[in-house]
Amino acid sequence: MKVYKFGGTSVGSPERFRALIPLISDGETKIVVLSAMAGTTNTLVDISGLYSSGDKPGAEEMTRQLREKYHAVARELFSSSTWSEKASDLIEEHFGYISGLFSREYSRHNEKRIIARGELLSTGLLHLLLTEEGIPSCLIPALNFMRIDKDGEPDYFYIRENLKRELAAVKNEKIIITQGFICRNVSGETDNLRRGGSDYSATIIGAAIGAGEVQIWTDISGLHNNDPRYVENTRVVRSLSFSEAAELAFFGAKILHPSSINPARMKNIPVRLKNTMEPGDEGTLITSETTLEDYTAVAAKDGITAIRIRSDRMLMAYGFMRRIFEAFEAFRTPIDMITTSEVSVSLTIEDPTYLDEIVKSLSSIGHVEVDRDQTIICVVGDFRPDRVGSAPEIFEALNEISVKMISYGGSDHSVSILINTTDKITALRALNEKLFAQKA
Ligand code: ADP
Ligand code: ASP
Ligand code: MG
Repeated sequence: MKVYKFGGTSVGSPERFRALIPLISDGETKIVVLSAMAGTTNTLVDISGLYSSGDKPGAEEMTRQLREKYHAVARELFSSSTWSEKASDLIEEHFGYISGLFSREYSRHNEKRIIARGELLSTGLLHLLLTEEGIPSCLIPALNFMRIDKDGEPDYFYIRENLKRELAAVKNEKIIITQGFICRNVSGETDNLRRGGSDYSATIIGAAIGAGEVQIWTDISGLHNNDPRYVENTRVVRSLSFSEAAELAFFGAKILHPSSINPARMKNIPVRLKNTMEPGDEGTLITSETTLEDYTAVAAKDGITAIRIRSDRMLMAYGFMRRIFEAFEAFRTPIDMITTSEVSVSLTIEDPTYLDEIVKSLSSIGHVEVDRDQTIICVVGDFRPDRVGSAPEIFEALNEISVKMISYGGSDHSVSILINTTDKITALRALNEKLFAQKA
């Protein structure tokens, strides 16, 4: 069985919804994981923001506008009034649910319940559309099987057992539709896998059922060798290893959720990235095979905070690192990059929630400096220890930019470089020119 995931733009309009029909009704059995229609989750987050700040009229108005948008989609999507009325009932049910929550006290759980409506709507609409077209399909609720544990990690045992039960109940169906992104947390409440999480849902499902392949369908023909939002003349990377793809996803290649490769790698399930607008394009295939290009691709991750701890007492002393790491562990804050010298340690974090507490705790060890608005550039390529030379093209490309940290040698297939976010676009373009364009 295969898993197909369609992202927001792939269900972004009535036309795009219709374009899914031939892709999923080829006679093969598949689980179809859908995101919310493009823009919906952003609007639901905004609605929740108004609700949490006590602006109920504002939240009501934004909800009304989104509801109208859905009614307009439904009017265009269905051919007969019977099915557009069913769609209208579905839309009213979900938006009625949201409005119903506004009369209650704000809570994080109610916010998550609101944010979950996007995927519930898109899957409901696709199911109705296929039924109108006479194509058999069924809907299995992600909230019946997708679950995260107390650390926010997928609870694979629970997922496998419950998904198995759900699938057994629909064993003759060829098209099994479910929601991406949404799940239950350890308390059984509605939750989600973080923004962009439908990719993660697809690979978790793939791993749970031992799928033959997971296909991520989006608005671009595969993973490009640089960020196409900032750089021109980027090219599709035809094949990538799980490690390379995981690194690129983690360090900002938005086409994949940062954690989405892990489940596929765990079970050695190929992941194919495809374009719903150009279904004939080959796209990118991610497997356990390493490509071994000098340079494969570049990605960038913003919102990074750098912390530097300096202490002369560090010289020739032991136990410093442990004390530094303990400060981060105490506040459950992961470290991304780290470089050291005899008397200082520089490291980066993504989540600044406990920054003040961490800095306070580190101040007992040495002098602490903090730099916000930093970006990590990740260059994926062949950096095995026996590579000859130290990738001079990377540093030539970044000649005009202030490089804050470099992490080389930690990974066989990537180098990370910390720069100011204001230099990001210049850096990405310069790297594209040096690593790819000049070599083409
Ligand atoms: P979906 O809604 O289908 O999940 P996303 O917007 O999450 O789609 O991901 C697709 C987008 O990722 C592309 O439109 C592109 O702008 C962006 N992107 C960023 N980096 C890359 C990259 N290296 N390769 C391909 N796309 C990328
Ligand atoms: N709809 C969710 C989001 O916008 C999940 C996803 O698109 O993958 O973040
Ligand atoms: Mg996405």
